[in-house]
Amino acid sequence: MLRVRRFTKFRIGPAVYRDSRPVEIRAWTVGGEPVPFEHAVAQRFEPFSVGEVWGRPWDTVWFDVRGDVPADWEPDETELVVDLGFTGDQPGFQAEGTVYRPDGTIVKAIEPLNAWAPLPGPGPFRLLIEAAANPIVQVPYEYEPTSLGDKATAGDAFQYRLAELSVSRRDPVVWELLQDVRTLDGLVDVLPPDGSRRAEIVHALERMVDVMDPDDVHGTAALGREALAPALAGGAADSSLIVTAVGHAHIDCAWLWPVRETVRKVARTFANVLDLADRDPDFVFAASSAQQYAWLKESRPDLFERVRKAVADGVVRPVGGMWVESDTNMPGGEALARQFVLGKRFFLEEFGVETEEAWLPDSFGYTAALPQIVRAAGARYFLTQKPSWNEVNRMPHSSFHWEGIDGSRVFTHFPPAETYNSDLGASDLARTESSFRQKGAARHVLGLFGWGDGGGGPTREMLAAAERKKDLDGVPRVRLGDPRSFFATAEAELPEPPVWVGEMYLELHRGTLTSQQRGKRGNRHSEALLREAELWAATAAVLRGTPYPYDALESAWRTVLLQQFHDILPGTSIAWVHQEAERDHERVATELTELIDASLAAVAGDGDAPVAANAGPYPQAGVPALGVAPATPPAAARPRWHGDRIVLEDEQLYAEVDRRGTLVSVVDRAADRELLPRGLAGGVLQLFRDTPREWDAWDINDEDKRSGRDLLDPVSVDIADGSVLVRHAWDGTSIDMTIRLVDGRIEYGFDVDWHESQKLLKLAFPLDVRADKATSEIQFGHIHRPIHQNTSWDEARFETVAHRWIHVGEPGYGVAVANDVVYGHDVRNGHAPDGKPMTTARLSLLRAPRYPDPAADQGRHPFTVSLRPGGIPDAIADGYAQHLPLRTTRGTPTEPLVQVSDPAVVVESVKLAEDRSGDLVVRLYEAHGNRSRATVRTSFDWSEVTATDLLERPSDSEAVRDVSPGSAVDLVMRPFELLTLRFRDPAA
Ligand SMILES: [Zn+2]
Repeated sequence: MLRVRRFTKFRIGPAVYRDSRPVEIRAWTVGGEPVPFEHAVAQRFEPFSVGEVWGRPWDTVWFDVRGDVPADWEPDETELVVDLGFTGDQPGFQAEGTVYRPDGTIVKAIEPLNAWAPLPGPGPFRLLIEAAANPIVQVPYEYEPTSLGDKATAGDAFQYRLAELSVSRRDPVVWELLQDVRTLDGLVDVLPPDGSRRAEIVHALERMVDVMDPDDVHGTAALGREALAPALAGGAADSSLIVTAVGHAHIDCAWLWPVRETVRKVARTFANVLDLADRDPDFVFAASSAQQYAWLKESRPDLFERVRKAVADGVVRPVGGMWVESDTNMPGGEALARQFVLGKRFFLEEFGVETEEAWLPDSFGYTAALPQIVRAAGARYFLTQKPSWNEVNRMPHSSFHWEGIDGSRVFTHFPPAETYNSDLGASDLARTESSFRQKGAARHVLGLFGWGDGGGGPTREMLAAAERKKDLDGVPRVRLGDPRSFFATAEAELPEPPVWVGEMYLELHRGTLTSQQRGKRGNRHSEALLREAELWAATAAVLRGTPYPYDALESAWRTVLLQQFHDILPGTSIAWVHQEAERDHERVATELTELIDASLAAVAGDGDAPVAANAGPYPQAGVPALGVAPATPPAAARPRWHGDRIVLEDEQLYAEVDRRGTLVSVVDRAADRELLPRGLAGGVLQLFRDTPREWDAWDINDEDKRSGRDLLDPVSVDIADGSVLVRHAWDGTSIDMTIRLVDGRIEYGFDVDWHESQKLLKLAFPLDVRADKATSEIQFGHIHRPIHQNTSWDEARFETVAHRWIHVGEPGYGVAVANDVVYGHDVRNGHAPDGKPMTTARLSLLRAPRYPDPAADQGRHPFTVSLRPGGIPDAIADGYAQHLPLRTTRGTPTEPLVQVSDPAVVVESVKLAEDRSGDLVVRLYEAHGNRSRATVRTSFDWSEVTATDLLERPSDSEAVRDVSPGSAVDLVMRPFELLTLRFRDPAA
C-alpha cells in the first residue's frame, strides 16, 4: 500500500486542480472587533500579496479579491482556492473566512479541508473575504497554559501567512478518482487483514497505479477510475447495518473562541450547507440550538431567509428544541425547562417546526430529570454520543429507553460511530458496526457527518463518501436521511428496547462541577433572581394590574440560558468567555433586581412597615411562602469560650469548635446523638493537588485525592459579631470562615481569596451515619447514588453533582448539607479511627486549573454551607432557604397568589403565560418522591384551570382531580411528577 499511498499523495492530490491564475488582492485590517460588511467595504484597502503575514490574535482582515475567469473554463470547474495559512487539519480551531459577493451576500466559507468557493462564469469578478485571525489556542491536547484566550494578554504577533489565493480549474475526473481512492484506502485499514475483500481492494488500487501515467494524471485518471470500479461495485452484505447519515455541524456556542466568533461560525457553516444543498438533492442537515438561528437572524438576515426556505424545503432540520446545547448537570429545573420552552417556541414561531428529539451530543453527563423534561416539552427522542467517552465503563445499550426519576421514558440513540464529527470514512463506519449494541435485534443507526466543535459542517468529500457507501462490500449501508425518520424507524424496529434507568453519569470531566466557580455562582444567583422577578411581577400583574415585563424577562432568560452552554457553565472555555459570562450575570442581576424592586413596590403598596418578601416555596421566619409579611427571624446562638473550645448551643444542637477551627462535637439534643464520628473533626477544609492527566479545566482525577492535606492550623480562631471566626492564610491565599448556630442549623460562611494553582479545595463533614447511599438534589427532585465501590460503575462515580443539598441517612435519621452555590460533591462510606462505620460528605469549593484559562478561579469567592440533622424534607427546605433568602422592604403584608397544602408539592415557578395572554402559569413538582395529595388555593379569581405541557399547551396529565373554580385545585401527584397549571383570566 505504500506505493498506492505515495502515488495518491504526490500525484493524484496535486492534480485535482489542473490550472490556476493569480488574482489581485487588497486588504483592510479591522484592528478590533468584527464589523458589518457595509462598514468594511467602505474602507480603504491596501495592496496585498500571497506570502504576506496577516492577522493579529482575534483580529479580522478583509481581502478584496479581483480576478478573471478564462472564457474556456467550465463554470463547475472554476473555483476560488484560498489557503489562509492553515496548519494541520482542524477546521474551526484556527483561521476561517467568509466569502461575500460585492452586494454583501454570502457565497461560502473558507476553512481547512474546505478551502474553496464557487466562482461566477467567465470574465472579471470581485469577491470579498472576511478572514478571522482566530489563534490556535489548542495545540492538539497538550493543555499547556496559553495567553491567547484573552485579548488583553494575546499579544500582537501575526498569526497567519496567506499561502494561496487563486482562480483554479478543478479536474472533476481526478477529484472523483481521489474520492474513489479514499473510500477504498480507508477500507484497507479496517477489513480483516487476511480476508479476500481486502485483497481485492489492494489489488484494484495497485492496478490503478499500474494503468495511470504519473506524468499525465489528467490524461489517465479515467483509466484509474475504471481500474477501481470493480472494487467499488460489490454490494454490502444482507446483514449489514443501515446508517442514516445526517449532515451536522456541532458548533460550540463558545469554547476556545468567544461568543461573538460563534455568531460568525454559524453564518459560515450555514453558507457551506446551503452551497452543498444545491449540489445534492438528498442532502439533509440537522442543526440544533435556537440561539444560533437567532444570531443568524440578527446578524445575517439574508442568510437567515435562505435558511428559512431550506427548512421549509426539508433540507435544514431544526433539532433539539433547546435554546442552546446546555450542560444538564447544573442548570436548575426551571432553567432546564426554559431551555426547551424558549428553544421550541423559537422553532415553532420562526419555522412552524415542532422538534421531537432532544439533541445533546456533547454535554458532560445527563441528569435523571431530563426524560420527564423532554416529554413535558412535547418531545420523545433523545440523542447523545458522549457516554462513549467514559473512562471505565461502557454503556450497555445504543438504542434504548431512558427512564427518568418520575418514570418518564424517551427513546434514546447513541450514534455508534461515537462521534458527532464523522467524515463517513471507513474507520467511523467500522466503529459503527463494532460498537452498536443492539445489532442482531436492530439494523438502523444514525451517523452524524460534518466538521464540528468549531463548526464548518459537511463537505462535498463527505457526500462523495456517502454516495460510494450506499451499498458497498465491507461497510454498513449509508443512506442520507433526516433524524426524525431515523428515530421513527429505529423505534419501530425495537418494540421492546432495553431500559437504562436514572442518571447517565459521564465518567470523565468531573471537574466541570467546580471549575470557574464565579460563573456557577452567577448561574445559581441568576436562576434565583429570575424566579423572584417572575413571581413578584406576576403577583403585581394579577393583584395590582401592573404591566408584566415580558421583554425584559425573556431577554434575561436568553442571557442566562446561553451561559448554561456546555463549555461555559462547566468552566472549560478560554478566559474571554468566562469574563463575559461573569459580566452578563452581573448585568442580569442588576436588571432583575430593579424589576423585583419595582414589582414589590407595587405588590406591597404604600405602607411603611418593615416587611419581608419570601420567594421560596416554604415559610421563612414567619413569612408565608410566596407572600409578603413582617419577618421574625430566629436569633443565632451566642458563641462562648469554654476552656480552649468555643461552644454554640440552642434548644436543638450543642456544638464545639476547637483551636483548629473545626467542629469537634455536634450533639443533636432531641435524638441524644453525636453527629461526628469519635476522633474525627467536622467542617474541615482540605487542600488537594489537582494536576489531571489531561483535560485540565475538565477533569478531577481520583488519584489526586491521595495527595491532600487538612487545613488544621488557622491563623486565628475568635468570636466576632456573634459568630466563630476562623481565619486561614498562606502564600497569598486567605480563607475567612464564620460558623454560627441558627435554629438547629450550623451555618458556615466563607470568604475565600484564592490564589492557588492546580489545587482543589474541599470542605469535609465526616458523619457518624451508617449510610449506603447519598441523596442529591437534581432538577425537580433528587436521586440516590451508592457510596460504596462495589462495582466499577460505583468506583468511577467519585465526584457527583448536587444542586442545593445532599443528604446522608440511616432509616429514621439523617444529616442534610445545603449550599448556596456548590455543585461538586463526593460522598463515601468508611470507618472511623475507632472502627465504627461512618460516612464522609464533602463539597468541592474551588479549583484553579490552568488550561484553557490560565487565571481560572483566582480572586474572591463567597460561599455558604449549612449542616443539620433532619430528613430529606428538611434538606429541601434548607436548600430553598439558602437559594432564596428573604428580601426586606417596606409596605403592607400581601397574601401569596397560591398556597399549597402539602410541603411535598413545591411551587417552582409563577409567571404569566408565554403567549402574553395574561393567563397565570404555576409550575409545581412532587419533591419527596412519594405519591402526594395537595390542594392549591389561589388568592385571585380565575375562570378555568388547565394542566399543560412546558409550552403551556393542554396536556394529558391526570394530576388535577378536583377543581373549585376561582379558588382551589386538588391534585394527586405521582413521585417527582412535574405539573404546569394554567389559570385563565386571573384577576384580583
Ligand atoms: Zn461541544
